[in-house]
Amino acid sequence: MSTADRKPFVGGNWKMNTNSAGASALIGAVTDRSGSSDAEVVVYPPFVYLREVGAAMSGKGTNVRLGAQDFRHEPDGAMTGCISLSMLKDCGATSVLTGHSERRHVIGESDSLINAKTKAALDAGMQVVLCIGELLEEREAGQTDAVNERQLRAGLDGVAESQLGQVVLAYEPVWAIGTGKTATSGDAQDAHTKIRGLVESMYSADAASKMRILYGGSVKPGNAVELFGMPDIDGGLIGGASLNADDFGAIVDATGR
Ligand code: PEP
Repeated sequence: MSTADRKPFVGGNWKMNTNSAGASALIGAVTDRSGSSDAEVVVYPPFVYLREVGAAMSGKGTNVRLGAQDFRHEPDGAMTGCISLSMLKDCGATSVLTGHSERRHVIGESDSLINAKTKAALDAGMQVVLCIGELLEEREAGQTDAVNERQLRAGLDGVAESQLGQVVLAYEPVWAIGTGKTATSGDAQDAHTKIRGLVESMYSADAASKMRILYGGSVKPGNAVELFGMPDIDGGLIGGASLNADDFGAIVDATGR
């Protein structure tokens, strides 16, 4: 399978931004700008705006899909403050993020929790964008490949090859997230090639060739074309630039290939 056979994917992670009016305005602008893209486009608003963002989308017949930034993997019960997968599905979300660096390194999620969440979401029929990537000190210590391998193997532990169609990987070097620093396209391509090789060694050549691997970390309209032009970069997970529909739209356009 060549690059051209993997459908490009762009995710917009709104993080803890927007408010009710702002989320409605943003999704309106995103669907106007990117709603008929050939790329797979998913937005990840804050939980509390999922319903209204979903309602605004369904009224427009857009290709843009609704995702959620986080969830708790137990089906229900005494989990104060948590949101289950079935609640997300109720709101129309079909995609979730796992392993995002802010959940790993700010909230303190472990590899084993990320694995439990990944498996629960796949079993619930959701698409999962599993994020991996090294800290600056790990990069400087030459540990980038080892960290990616550990996080990928742990994240997908117990996931069957038959479920990989629901999985998208995102390589997000932590030092590049929200910092304005981006990996060079060559460094990103190098990491993506190694990640694809790992998928092959864990599963099969067929699984590796089909797996979409996104780059994330300060992707902007000005660097997206070069990054997405790399043969193993199949789109991006976008934070800051996803809050501006024109910037996000230009990034979605940059996947055109
Ligand atoms: C992200 O949140 O996954 C991300 C890549 O953020 P930013 O684009 O702001 O670096």
